[in-house]
Amino acid sequence: MRHAARLGRALVATAIAMALATPGHAGEPALSRFTFRETHMGSEFKLLLYCPDEATARRASRAAFDRIAALDKALSDYDPESELMRLCERAGGPPVAVSVDLFNILERSGAISARSEGAFDATVGPVVRLWRRARRTRQLPEPETLAKALALVGFAQVKLDAKAQTVQLLKPGMKLDLGGIAKGFASGEAIATLKREGVDRALVAGAGDIVVSGPPPGAEGWTVGIAPLEAPGGSEPSKRLLLRDAAVSTSGDAERFVEIGGVRYSHIVNPKTGVGLVDRVSVTVIARDGATADALATACCVLGPRRGIKLIDDTEGAAALFVRASETTESARFKDLPVSPVPPQVAP
Ligand code: ADP
Ligand code: MG
Repeated sequence: MRHAARLGRALVATAIAMALATPGHAGEPALSRFTFRETHMGSEFKLLLYCPDEATARRASRAAFDRIAALDKALSDYDPESELMRLCERAGGPPVAVSVDLFNILERSGAISARSEGAFDATVGPVVRLWRRARRTRQLPEPETLAKALALVGFAQVKLDAKAQTVQLLKPGMKLDLGGIAKGFASGEAIATLKREGVDRALVAGAGDIVVSGPPPGAEGWTVGIAPLEAPGGSEPSKRLLLRDAAVSTSGDAERFVEIGGVRYSHIVNPKTGVGLVDRVSVTVIARDGATADALATACCVLGPRRGIKLIDDTEGAAALFVRASETTESARFKDLPVSPVPPQVAP
């Protein structure tokens, strides 16, 4: 995601500025800033953390990346060997016992599906695959093929049994796709892992899905810049947020789209129609945890500002900003967020 990458750059810039002024607080050792990057889930994950020494930073970041890698291995819809894809192979059959991670993320997905009236739906796999093919062939899916795929979509056809920790996909051919929630979930799990390793001032960014714990020393929060829609590379963020112990995700207006017959279809699809979104919209959602921010951002792209903001206002601790080519709309809580008064210094 183009703008998501820039979101990341804005963050680094701030962290550098903060590191220069990082004396130890009373009783707290002086902290240094460390940055690590690795590619997982087809995206770059960046870890920014403050801790006393390099050995701790390396050990903690290794554990966090290992956690992300394990989640990727379980949840990928690209890898036919992933636990998720092996579950899908058994669609139409009896309930299947799954790992805690897979069960949890499906439970979260189901809850957001219900709350968004199906705008977010992790069963969109069959339809998403048709649009992936459309991106390669530059031809729209045949209406009949699309209708068949659409018949396999709907979270009501997923049966979760929390007690037995099993999942049953009711129709053969169903395909789960966690692309709209997995990166936010993974960023949150990485923050939890860092905490267990003793690092509680950190930021994890899986492309546009960011989770932060405690702020950089001497700061009230992490400054996160939201890039404007269609801005030329390197332009200033349109807004800056100051966040601690929170998650922020941006969805939409991605580079992953296909233009056919002069219409631009997004990689986010409307699960009701099976069609890639054609509205130019980018939604930034702040929430208490990464999975919620990520899934709500995807849901809000589908719902649009009117219904999306209602969903956000009904979610404790959430706020959203919709940026469309012609206008921006923010939820009431977004307006109240502390926005950093001074632009962060720009890194060289
Ligand atoms: P990104 O992956 O660019 O950060 P999102 O978080 O919005 O963006 O996720 C988009 C991905 O989610 C798509 O590539 C697809 O795999 C999946 N997806 C598409 N439409 C939906 C939808 N309506 N509900 C749930 N997942 C979706
Ligand atoms: Mg998402």
